[in-house]
Formats: sequence, structure tokens, C-alpha cells
Amino acid sequence: MNNNAIEIENVSKTYKNLKAVNDVSFQIEDATCFCLLGPNGAGKTTLMKMIYGRALRDVSPKSKIRVYGYDPQTEALMIKHLSGIVPQENNLDEELNVSENLKIYSKFYGIPSAEAEKTISFLLEFMELSDKKNARIRELSGGMKRRIVIARALLNNPKLLILDEPTTGLDPQVRHMIWDKLKHLKKEKTTILLTTHYMDEAFQIADNIVIMDKGKKAMEGAPHRLMTQNIEKYVMEIKTGIFEHISGKMSENTGQAIRKEISGETVFIYSNDLKILSCYSDTAGETHCYIRQTNLEDLFLKITGRKLNEQQ
Ligand code: ADP
Repeated sequence: MNNNAIEIENVSKTYKNLKAVNDVSFQIEDATCFCLLGPNGAGKTTLMKMIYGRALRDVSPKSKIRVYGYDPQTEALMIKHLSGIVPQENNLDEELNVSENLKIYSKFYGIPSAEAEKTISFLLEFMELSDKKNARIRELSGGMKRRIVIARALLNNPKLLILDEPTTGLDPQVRHMIWDKLKHLKKEKTTILLTTHYMDEAFQIADNIVIMDKGKKAMEGAPHRLMTQNIEKYVMEIKTGIFEHISGKMSENTGQAIRKEISGETVFIYSNDLKILSCYSDTAGETHCYIRQTNLEDLFLKITGRKLNEQQ
């Protein structure tokens, strides 16, 4: 028997003439963190919604979604019971206070009041919000609201936590705190599926990622492995004018050992050989260049392109 929490095979979703998701397949292993990455309009949210039964996939004999063995098309309630959802918007009731918001949800799950009280106290402590128990939602910051929505998604102690852009718009401290909480939940064997467009988020917490682009799966794998297999180790950023000025001075061999990408006024020069980049930097003058290790964002831009697509 396999150890997959989620299986997606040949899944598509068409809105009128638009293929929002186009023949996507992947698996998510139980108790791991899986991240869907992609530019706006890539189809991440649509795919998530098909997984938890909020959107129907296109009908096709080849197409299949299973969440712990359940088909969201016909068994969405079973999936609802074993999962927690953090939607893109903080859909809290602004008129109620924090604990009232959580209590209402615990009733949806049929959790008895005494048990709900204990769980709510525990989750508020876990999210470091115990002192906000009686605060009105409208008095809270964006980061606090996000943490309450995550606490709400954990009320039923889910096997699977699904988060749509959990940290978008939050300041770095809150983002790091949320990452720590997600890492903790993973240690406790919760399966985590999230979408993000923050590359460092995916790199920090995901065991596996899928990069989506225009509805299709563009790349899949463990972040470190994807990096070593698909992109050079180092990159130098330099202004186009300066690059043009110095490139004539470089030897032919040096020129062959690099890959160039141009974005606006900046040239990105990629290489596995740090000495070659230093050669460019010495010629241009250090103050005109910035050499660093490549990151997931460089890979992402290599795959999806440096130009904004029509959806953005
Ligand atoms: P992402 O989450 O990657 O930003 P989405 O899944 O939200 O992408 O959207 C993928 C594409 O599907 C976009 O072009 C979007 O406009 C379109 N889309 C999403 N939901 C609907 C809908 N309910 N009706 C029509 N088009 C939609």
C-alpha cells in the first residue's frame, strides 16, 4: 500500500474557454509539506479547491483525485472532516470576538462545548494569541487575523491542513512565526498543502514543490534537488550598460561558461564557476556587481520567464 495522502492524476479544470488547470498529476506523501508555487493565475487556487471539493474537475475517464482515499467529487464531507482549510481571505466574523469565532466553528464540527473550550485555549496558546481571546476581530492586525484563521483550521485536529497563501502581505516576523508553527505541525505528522508565491517560504518548509505555470505543471521535486539539477550555483547581477562595456574585454572561454538573462536594466549572469564571475566583477569593478548563490526564485524565473504573463 502506498503512503500517499493525496493523489492527483490527469486533472483539468475548464472555465468557459480557459483551461485554468491543464492535465496535472502529482502525489503528496502523508505527513509531509507540499507547496504549489506559481505566478498569479497559474491555477494553484483552482487546484486546491478541487482537492477539498469546492470546485469540480473536468469529467474524464483518466482523471482522478483522492484525498486519503476519498474522492472530493462525491465524498467532500469525509474530506472536510479530516482536513482544515485556510482560505486566501481571512473570512472571520468581524462582529464577534476571537473565541466566539472559534466556538462557532467548533459547533460546525460537532465538538462538545467543554472540549471546544480546552481546544480553543490550547490553539490560542499555540498561535501565541491567548491574550487576544476576548478581542474583537476588527481590533486585530493582519498577522493576528491570519493566525486565528490557522487556529480555526486546526480545531478538528486535521490530518491534512490546506493553506492558500498563508503569509501573503504579512511582515517578516509573522511569516517566520507561521513557518515555525507549520514545521511543528509537520513534526506532529500533519500533512500540509500550501500555495505561495514566496519562494523562500517554499524553500523553508516544503519537502516537495510543484511549480505551476499557465495551468500546467512546469516542474516537480524537492527544492534542493530541483536547484542542483536545474540551475547554476551562482549568479551575478550587473547593469546592462556596464555588462556591454566589459563583455568585449572577456575571453571567449569565459563567455561560454555563463548563461545570461536580461530583465529591464539588469543582466543576470549565471555560472557554476565562482572564479568566472569574479573575473567579470574584477573587470567591471566590485561596486557595479553583486554576486550571490542562486535561489529558488532564480529557478522559478528561469521556468516561468522574467516577463509578466497576461494573467498578472
Ligand atoms: P492562482 O491561484 O494560481 O493565482 P487561480 O486558480 O485563481 O490561479 O486562477 C487560474 C485562472 O482561472 C485565472 O485565469 C483565473 O482568472 C481563472 N479563474 C479562477 N476562478 C475562476 C472562476 N470561478 N470563473 C472563471 N475563471 C476563473
